[in-house]
Amino acid sequence: MKTTVQTLQGSRIGHFIDGAFVAPQDGVYAPSYDPTTAEPWYEFALGDARDVDAAVRSAKAALLNPAWRRLTQTDRGKLVRRLGELVLAHAEELAQLECRDNGKLIKEMRAQMRAIPDSYGYFAGMADKLQGDTIPVNKLDTLNFNLREPIGVVGMIIPWNSPLMMLTGTLAPCLAIGNTIVVKPSEHATASALALAELVIEAGIPAGVVNVVTGDGATTGDALTRHPGIAKYVFTGSTDTGRKIAGNAADNLVPCQMELGGKSPHVVFSDVDIERAVNGVVSGIFAAAGQTCVAGSRCFVEAPVYERFVEALVERTRRVKVGHPMAEDTDIGPLALAAQLEKVEHFVGSGVREGAKVAVGGRKPQDEALARGWYYEPTVLADARNEMSFMRHEIFGPVVGVVPFSSEDEMIALANDTEYGLASGIWTRDIDRAMRFARNVEAGTVWINTYRSAAFMSANGGTKKSGYGRRGGFEVMREFSRLKNVVIDY
Ligand code: NAD
Repeated sequence: MKTTVQTLQGSRIGHFIDGAFVAPQDGVYAPSYDPTTAEPWYEFALGDARDVDAAVRSAKAALLNPAWRRLTQTDRGKLVRRLGELVLAHAEELAQLECRDNGKLIKEMRAQMRAIPDSYGYFAGMADKLQGDTIPVNKLDTLNFNLREPIGVVGMIIPWNSPLMMLTGTLAPCLAIGNTIVVKPSEHATASALALAELVIEAGIPAGVVNVVTGDGATTGDALTRHPGIAKYVFTGSTDTGRKIAGNAADNLVPCQMELGGKSPHVVFSDVDIERAVNGVVSGIFAAAGQTCVAGSRCFVEAPVYERFVEALVERTRRVKVGHPMAEDTDIGPLALAAQLEKVEHFVGSGVREGAKVAVGGRKPQDEALARGWYYEPTVLADARNEMSFMRHEIFGPVVGVVPFSSEDEMIALANDTEYGLASGIWTRDIDRAMRFARNVEAGTVWINTYRSAAFMSANGGTKKSGYGRRGGFEVMREFSRLKNVVIDY
């Protein structure tokens, strides 16, 4: 693997098209920044429409290449499994790459790298389970059946917060189905997608099946979403960008899967073990410095335990250690971008002006060693109200607002009073109440007495402005394949 932290440091890296690294056609590169120092550490190609076109052409040619098209489903599954084995063999290098690129904790990346290879194995096993069906029709001597086929070239646009994880969620099933792929990683964390593309070739998957074209959203991403050669898009990112992409895709009548932002409710009832619930709320919001789509950023606490809960939450939050992402004892690393830090500062400021109280945090850490990076203390804003601006917008940072509620009806109204519908969580010992919540909350995922417990075996996705389409389980195999009806008279 060429794209290790050591080889990338101070170097320039091109797109990955048709099985090889290539320079951008107009020769323009941009720096990728190390979030712990705010300094550039390598340069990636800034793709334009010509680079995107080359990548899509390569993927289209690979779709027709007999070495891919004429593989049996079992043999295709073997290649996907082999890719998973290579990802496992390179797990530590991939983990370090992503930490350096987006400031993710090394311990979190190592945990992700234990799950990601398994996900290739899981979807590899589905390659030969994808089947069509026969249809009884009102006609004798006729065989009417549906073939299930690859959908074509899939355009994947991914964010910076968990690129490998996000990519794997659709890349593994798309390969198992027999699709070909053009990936546009985020301009803020490009390296791991390129490293994965190299492993695809090493696994024996033909050149052109997976292409990576790097660059920003406005030029490279926009060109990809306007290209007529794409059969379906999968987009993971913000709701505003999703709206633009869906608009471009609609012009070509191309469907999308949209995995967008969130402002997820995390509910605590007074019948629970407060310490357990506090731990759940802390990991639900502060994991990855709040830069997770499912972050439980609106916390609703039943009035009788509100004061006690806030006290315990503050005490627990003080013990969350902010530090360098490579240190094993760090709980929160830096934010990935300068713009994220500004956004966090803006929304904490607006929350205070609107009457919320900074119970803990609310500033950059005072530690000299962290001064240059984009660090921010984990922050609890107590006495918040759902209508405050920081409770309505996705901050994507380590900030939680806490609001008391008095009745179950009030709680569900508050939980659903958001334009988003990605995840939700509830802490209660009352199973009836938990099930009522699960039925009534407007969210793609409901966690009961746990939070952020996701699996690639289950269908995940959003409702409302958090998107549409499902990733995970067999559902994703259906979403990225299509049926063709065939009729034979005999
Ligand atoms: P973003 O929307 O700014 O960018 C995501 C990707 O889209 C990047 O690759 C970017 O270059 C590209 N892009 C930007 N503008 C584009 C355009 N006009 N046309 C085409 N592509 C364009 O999001 P981000 O800041 O990278 O990521 C954070 C967001 O992602 C948050 O909103 C978070 O909730 C969301 N997210 C969602 C999920 C999920 O599964 N629902 C998972 C992770 C992140």
